Amino acid sequence: MALDAGTRLIAALARNQQRFSPILGFPLTTQNARLLDLSVSNKELQKYKHHEDYVRTLDHANLIWYDRSFSFVLLENLFLFAHKHRLGGYGEERNIYAQSTSYSQTNRCIHLGVDVTLKFNTPIYTPFLGRVHSFQNNSQPFDYGPTIILEHDLEENVHFYTLYGHLSTASLESLTVGQTFEAGQLLAYIGDKSENGGWNPHLHFQIISDIGEMKGDYPGVASKIDAPTMLHNCPDPQFILGFPEKPIIY
Ligand SMILES: [Zn+2]
Repeated sequence: MALDAGTRLIAALARNQQRFSPILGFPLTTQNARLLDLSVSNKELQKYKHHEDYVRTLDHANLIWYDRSFSFVLLENLFLFAHKHRLGGYGEERNIYAQSTSYSQTNRCIHLGVDVTLKFNTPIYTPFLGRVHSFQNNSQPFDYGPTIILEHDLEENVHFYTLYGHLSTASLESLTVGQTFEAGQLLAYIGDKSENGGWNPHLHFQIISDIGEMKGDYPGVASKIDAPTMLHNCPDPQFILGFPEKPIIY
């Protein structure tokens, strides 16, 4: 029986893990990165009843974003690891969307990409030779803001897309559809809150197998019912990022 495209992509990503260039320009390691936990089990986040309150807490992201492996969260974040990048969230069930009407109407709560906390204007580099599939500014509140989707040929008959959300508006200015980006080439910059959908600056990074007819946008969050299919179609970005956790396979 022929394997479906998602299964073939997952196998090819695993085979090619060493070929990907670091999207921040340097490898993520235990020295410079830690796991981000925005899941429903994060007690630090349960205090926030309203989406606005929640978004405000993201201003203090490196202070409040909780780390699963420690109980002395604030102390640790304040004094020891404030300089570290935080990333994670693939397959995570989150309640942060429940407070925003743009998500709650469709009960979307399972995160399909990885978020990386980064400062405004941090450069993002292309992980693998690709071309611009599409781009647009998804400017609704709590949407992606400026977004780029690249298309990549990984192996014969295996191609995939990478989505970069919450970029700066300037990142889209000189782009053209079909434009080629080499592995390691500067692709874009992180946007600030006034332009990125209203979030604390971060990158939403997602791998997509079958993008269908979508252009410049693709769901980054799925309902629980759709999650198994969507997570299979959007393999764990850890295959490309390589850290902090082993890829999860759906
Ligand atoms: Zn995200």
